[in-house]
Amino acid sequence: MRLLDIIKKSSGHLEKAGVEDALVDAELLVLYAAGRDRLSAYMDNPEVDRSLVSRINRLVRRRAGGEPLQYIIGRVEFLGLDIRVGKGVLIPRPETELLVEEAIKAVKSKASSVNSLKIDSSPVTHHASRSFLDLCTGSGCIALSLAKEFPDAQVCATDVSAKAIKYATENSELNGIKNVAFLRGSLFGPVPEHVSFDLITANPPYIKSADIAGLQREVRREPAKALNGGKDGLDFYRKILSKAGSYLKESGWIFFELGFGQSEAVSAIAGRAGFRNITVVKDFAGIDRVLKAEK
Ligand code: GLN
Repeated sequence: MRLLDIIKKSSGHLEKAGVEDALVDAELLVLYAAGRDRLSAYMDNPEVDRSLVSRINRLVRRRAGGEPLQYIIGRVEFLGLDIRVGKGVLIPRPETELLVEEAIKAVKSKASSVNSLKIDSSPVTHHASRSFLDLCTGSGCIALSLAKEFPDAQVCATDVSAKAIKYATENSELNGIKNVAFLRGSLFGPVPEHVSFDLITANPPYIKSADIAGLQREVRREPAKALNGGKDGLDFYRKILSKAGSYLKESGWIFFELGFGQSEAVSAIAGRAGFRNITVVKDFAGIDRVLKAEK
């Protein structure tokens, strides 16, 4: 059998198993197993030996059984970073890239306004003192993207899950990013007292407990702890916002990813916690997805 035939066959199999985007997934699994890039695969369409066929079949069976593609191939691209993922860690989503882009814009615009106010501005010293905190970091995708964008900043990131911290640390090594520290513990727990940050980011668990069972089967393979936001899905926004002010410098920003329909409630919590300039940004599907607020 040739490579393109096995892609077609695998795609049919996945489609029957109810996998959305069956052809895309089949192609990615076959290319991964064969160690080929798409162009060379389509140009050469090589003969596939028996051991490769059985390897491909094993991967296709896992995908047909509902395991997320990203767990099987073990990686996902996030804003140009190569992020390793696997069972026990949330898979980064494109919506979270939006949070990072908004946070980067805010940091840059603040830096330029600060520098334009100073007559003797020294961007280097200003940058060197910048520090960011990412809560519920999971694979580390937010923290690593910020650390890469601002190599002079110090990024601290926490997660309650040892697995997450293991992946995040591995991802920092894999991407050669050194200005980030991943600490295990709940929310602000591992952050030394009296340290304050220019920016806090978080993509916390935000799904209502009662909605977890009805999620797509792939999402149900992700850690419930990374998804479950309590009865109304807002537990972590409340917990984080009750303390965030004391970990932020004056005029520091907090950025949250939001679940569907949560922007008003989270804006209200942020307002009650004393935050101002509360703004919501929509994602590409028109859903309120990112909330930013200033101390
Ligand atoms: N983005 C995930 C989903 O849509 C949820 C992640 C989270 O709870 N922060 O299922």
